Amino acid sequence: MSDGGIPGERRFPALALVNTRVQRSGVSEDLLADPTVIRDWLADRGLISADARVDETEAAAVRAFRESLRALLTARESRRVPPPADLTALNAALTAPALVWDGGGPRRVRRPVPDEVQGALADLAANAVDLLSGEEAASLASCSAHGCIRFFLRTHAARQWCSNRCGDRVRAARHYARRRSAAGS
Ligand SMILES: [Zn+2]
Repeated sequence: MSDGGIPGERRFPALALVNTRVQRSGVSEDLLADPTVIRDWLADRGLISADARVDETEAAAVRAFRESLRALLTARESRRVPPPADLTALNAALTAPALVWDGGGPRRVRRPVPDEVQGALADLAANAVDLLSGEEAASLASCSAHGCIRFFLRTHAARQWCSNRCGDRVRAARHYARRRSAAGS
């Protein structure tokens, strides 16, 4: 199963964004390491246009926003109140929608923001509000595979792992540990 198959990521790009920082062998790895990758990631999800420009400052803003989202998801999962600064960061990114009314009739649009990346953060913030205040929040979980820091939505109550890959890894480690203790006794 590819990482794109992590439950909840499709409906909640805010959750998917948090999962773009991973750990491999205990070392933090950023899957959004440069502005071009961030541009493509946001464009793939329809959050900005494919020809949008993302500079280093905006890339840093996206990564900082991601860490605030992580803090909020962590707080929700552990049923704690998040650090106020992270809540403030989310609320600062939100923009109120506006109504456009033309020949096609009335439709809801995102209120214009100065640049596309800010608009993307506004959409991600609104998405995070939906996630954290909605029914799905009760299913929010962090992967319990050793070293994995991804979040996912439990598809059933007993689900512990973000992906089959993590589940297989844990089962293989247990199998190995059993064989070792059997060999040692
Ligand atoms: Zn995992």
